[in-house]
Amino acid sequence: MARIELKNIVKKYGDGFPAVNDVSLDIADGEFVILVGPSGCGKSTLLRMIVGLEDITEGDLLIDGERVNDLAPRDRDLAMVFQNYALYPHLSVGENIAFPLRLNHSKVPESEVRDRVQRAADMLELNEHLDRKPANLSGGQRQRVAMGRAIVRDAKAFLFDEPLSNLDAKLRGQMRTEIARMQRSLATTTVYVTHDQTEAMTLGDRVAVLRKGVLQQVASPRELYEQP
Ligand code: ADP
Ligand code: ADP
Repeated sequence: MARIELKNIVKKYGDGFPAVNDVSLDIADGEFVILVGPSGCGKSTLLRMIVGLEDITEGDLLIDGERVNDLAPRDRDLAMVFQNYALYPHLSVGENIAFPLRLNHSKVPESEVRDRVQRAADMLELNEHLDRKPANLSGGQRQRVAMGRAIVRDAKAFLFDEPLSNLDAKLRGQMRTEIARMQRSLATTTVYVTHDQTEAMTLGDRVAVLRKGVLQQVASPRELYEQP
C-alpha cells in the first residue's frame, strides 16, 4: 500500500504541446482511482511516468512522501498490468507469475516463490492451468496471469492500463467483478485507466477525468453520476 502524490506533473515529448499538463492528484493509501478521457489525452503517459517507464519533464512524484522522479522502475515497487498482457510465450503460467520474483535483484527464496505463486493462483482461479503455456489459454485466463504477476510481488500499488479492453463483454463483466474483489481484499492502492463507462462507474473510489493532458475533474462515481 502506498500514497501516491502527483504535484504539477508535466510531460513533453520533444518540443510539442505537453502530453500531460500540470496534473496534481493525491491518491490515498489503498484508494482505487479510475483515470478516464478520450484517446490521446495522456492517460498512458501518466501511468508510465508513475511506474517509471517515462521521464517526468516537470513536477514531483511522491510515493509515501518520498520524491521518486529519479528512481528506477524496479525501486519504485509498483506493478503494472497492460492491455496486451505482455506474457512470456515460452514460459508456463506458473513461471510467468513467478517471473518478477526470480529476477536477480528480488532475492526471494524459491520456497517462498512457490508459496506466493500458489496464493496468487488460488485468488485468480488459475490452479489447474499452472503448467500450461499462454498460447493455450483464453483471453480472460491470460489477463488473469498478467494480474497474477502483479499481485505476486506484494507491490505497493497496481497500475492498470485498459486491462480488459481486449476481452469480450461477458468476460469483461466477470473480470471486473474479480478485480473489484481482489482490490478490496488486498486493499492495494490502484490507478486504473479505462474508457469503459461501467468500469469507471463501478470500480473506483474516485474518477479522474483527463482531457488534452489537463485534469478536468476528480470526483466519486456518485458525484459524477448525479451532476447535471
Ligand atoms: P492516451 O493513453 O490517453 O490515449 P497517451 O498518453 O498515449 O494518451 O498519449 C498522449 C499524447 O502524447 C498523444 O498526443 C500522443 O500522440 C503523445 N505521445 C504518446 N507517446 C509518445 C511518444 N513516445 N512520443 C511522442 N509522442 C507521444
Ligand atoms: P532490468 O532490471 O533487467 O534492467 P528493465 O530495464 O526492463 O530490466 O526493467 C527494470 C525493472 O523495472 C524490472 O526489473 C521491473 O521490476 C521494473 N519494471 C519494468 N517494467 C515494469 C512495469 N511495466 N511495471 C512495473 N515494473 C516494471
